[in-house]
Amino acid sequence: KSKRETSKKQECVTVVVRCRPMSQKEKNMGYSQVIQMWPDQGTILIRNPKEDHKDPVKTFTFDAVYDWTSKQEDLYDETVRPLVESVLNGFNATIFAYGQTGTGKTYTMEGCKTAKDDTDERGIIPKSFEQIFTHISRTTDKQHLVRSSYLEIYQEEIRDLLDKDTKKRYELKESKEIGVYVKGLRSFVCKSVKEIEHVMNVGNRNRTIGATDMNEHSSRSHAIFMITVEMSDLNTSKSQVRVGKLNLVDLAGSERQTKTGATGDRLKEASKINLSLSALGNVISALVDEKCQYIPYRDSKLTRLLQDSLGGNSKTLMVANIGPASYNYDESLTTLRYANRAK
Ligand code: ADP
Ligand code: MG
Repeated sequence: KSKRETSKKQECVTVVVRCRPMSQKEKNMGYSQVIQMWPDQGTILIRNPKEDHKDPVKTFTFDAVYDWTSKQEDLYDETVRPLVESVLNGFNATIFAYGQTGTGKTYTMEGCKTAKDDTDERGIIPKSFEQIFTHISRTTDKQHLVRSSYLEIYQEEIRDLLDKDTKKRYELKESKEIGVYVKGLRSFVCKSVKEIEHVMNVGNRNRTIGATDMNEHSSRSHAIFMITVEMSDLNTSKSQVRVGKLNLVDLAGSERQTKTGATGDRLKEASKINLSLSALGNVISALVDEKCQYIPYRDSKLTRLLQDSLGGNSKTLMVANIGPASYNYDESLTTLRYANRAK
């Protein structure tokens, strides 16, 4: 393998860690903070809260780290904007929010609508809508067509979040021309930020239908918002169309699901959630390992579906979310180790 190929391989995956602020409840409970971060160096330290521990601190370095003082736009401008830029140049990209439930995956992807002051707390998804349509409005020599789909993977089953029939299950198919796709998945042409926001809102609403406990449901399913941008040159007679794809993924919670006592459906469900997250970890670490020839895409629905947007010329961003408090120590360390494998 040439050196150039190697560096290309490493460039295709970016891993950043984000730590949310201590919540009011955590402050009231008096939990200590076990995380320290040095954003200048991309370094994070985690301290074992058990005082007599032999090996009390561990440090990790990532492409970037975002602490509790960082703003949505810091993360967006530094790590997401260049990725969306590449989609607008005809490449594929995937952004994952990974982490234990309650650490800020949805905050990172969607943001917070209830900001009282006029701070911009919109997350990656609405900000990417804005970037895409701003770019289109400023480009005069190309014609663009934007389409969006929204689906969910729950227990290795696919649901179209834009389908009114929320019970219907969808199949993955493969063809020579288009690769892996979801048969019958709806996609909507969007001509403005408003239109694509509407698609997202419809999908979010459908996601809650049939879920008895939304929090529990979202912690066990992967939500994937897909944007396809077709570009054709207006100045040349060649009818060449370039296509860029952006996948925005709010993953299932990474917490250990196999609680003692889980049986039957619960146990089956738990092992499936672990399966797709570990399959994703295996794919990403195979992508960054220059010695590795075989990428195990076929091991889960998630990795099969995103196959053409992981590796190759595609760019992948993993945002690993953690909480700062001592009681989250074990899960936070597990998340840092998972993210560390993906570097
Ligand atoms: P998850 O989707 O991983 O389960 P959420 O995004 O729902 O977690 O976040 C849990 C809570 O923490 C929410 O109330 C959210 O608003 C808050 N939160 C998460 N990240 C941040 C952050 N960076 N700054 C401020 N609040 C945050
Ligand atoms: Mg969530």
